[in-house]
Amino acid sequence: MAFHVLTAKPEDALRLATAVRDVKDRVRHCSVCYNLTDADPCAICTDAQRDRGQVLVVEQPKDLIALEQTGMYRGAYHVLLGHLSPLDGIGPGNLTVAALVERVKEPAANSGGVQVREVILGLNPTLEGDGTGLYLAGELRPLGVTVSRLARGLPSGGQLEQANKAVLADAIQGRRSLE
Ligand code: ZN
Repeated sequence: MAFHVLTAKPEDALRLATAVRDVKDRVRHCSVCYNLTDADPCAICTDAQRDRGQVLVVEQPKDLIALEQTGMYRGAYHVLLGHLSPLDGIGPGNLTVAALVERVKEPAANSGGVQVREVILGLNPTLEGDGTGLYLAGELRPLGVTVSRLARGLPSGGQLEQANKAVLADAIQGRRSLE
């Protein structure tokens, strides 16, 4: 990036600087679902046409974008901002787990004050994603909410954002309840 700025025309460099500043000023995390947004709550959380009693949990905003592009999902999301990784010192407190639990416990903490009845785990099919899913299921199930996960059309060890639309759409429709 520094090299690009050095070789760019001054007006292009300034335009880039303005664009970077705008992103820094305007884009933040939604206070409900932690998606990136320029309005809080985000457009998904405030959309009364969506089923906000259904919350699909993903690791990163880019996973949410990949799922939205399928056009198959009409519920709400929760972005964890990562996955559990004990070896790297990343525990539940480093993610948005507490906010998710609060949304499930307390309808007032969820978008539109809607009671959450199903949490769908849409974590990456990796060791860390699976571990994170098991942990979340253990936290959420005692709260009386249905916990399911996306079906395994997804290649193991793969990344959600790289899966194609058809595979993601199958994964949403074929989701399983976790035993
Ligand atoms: Zn949101």
